[in-house]
Amino acid sequence: MKMKILWMYHDLMDLYGDKGNIQVLKRRCEMRGIECQVDTCSLHEEKDCTDYDLIFIGGGADKEQGILVKDLLARKENLKQAMDQKSFVLLICGGYQMFGQYYIDGDGNRIEGLKFFDYYTQSADHKKRCIGNIVAECELEGRKIRLVGFENHGGQTHGVKTPFAKVLKGHGNTFQNGYEGFYNGQVLGTYMHGPLLPKNPEIADFIIEKALARQYGKVELVSLNDEIECKAKEIMIQRCLGGK
Ligand code: GLN
Repeated sequence: MKMKILWMYHDLMDLYGDKGNIQVLKRRCEMRGIECQVDTCSLHEEKDCTDYDLIFIGGGADKEQGILVKDLLARKENLKQAMDQKSFVLLICGGYQMFGQYYIDGDGNRIEGLKFFDYYTQSADHKKRCIGNIVAECELEGRKIRLVGFENHGGQTHGVKTPFAKVLKGHGNTFQNGYEGFYNGQVLGTYMHGPLLPKNPEIADFIIEKALARQYGKVELVSLNDEIECKAKEIMIQRCLGGK
């Protein structure tokens, strides 16, 4: 079995350890004897998104989002084809914002989104930012999973019809609405850096299964020993929720 990942804008969009997501996906595949190819794709590079099981974009500062927008929009049709052909898409923070309608950055500039989804993002007034550790709970195919991560974004994302998770501590899509990210079964957008997947191995495996499904249908992954990861996560949950 082989999984192919396309890591888009690896040189522009990579904050607070986002690249750890790629490392964990690769490692968790290889520990199971699944070959994992990671290709990168940045400005002006020719890559066919439909070749990939998983497409990943990390987070970035407003400046980087402004730099890549033209290149990203030019790939819209190709990305749509990839999604139509069941590539799974994982987007962190700035990457997540770019799949919506638009992002009004901290200086009031409008950065167009790919407009795949209805949500849109507007920077908070007075350049206020949602910063800190976050604990949330999602339900994926009937299974409730608690998540830990770290967020740092000025953007307030509104109009998300299908959020990824409910916030237990921290902010998520906006300062106040209590929900985090977007998930529609095939595209998962989240504000969680941290990075997300090393801190939440269940989500890493969920994504591997989803990505492999494009080529192989339903795959049962062999379990790995996640004792240390789970302990670390539990400690963070306790620390953030204060025993709540
Ligand atoms: N620049 C965006 C914001 O501030 C995204 C930040 C990020 O990816 N962490 O909202």
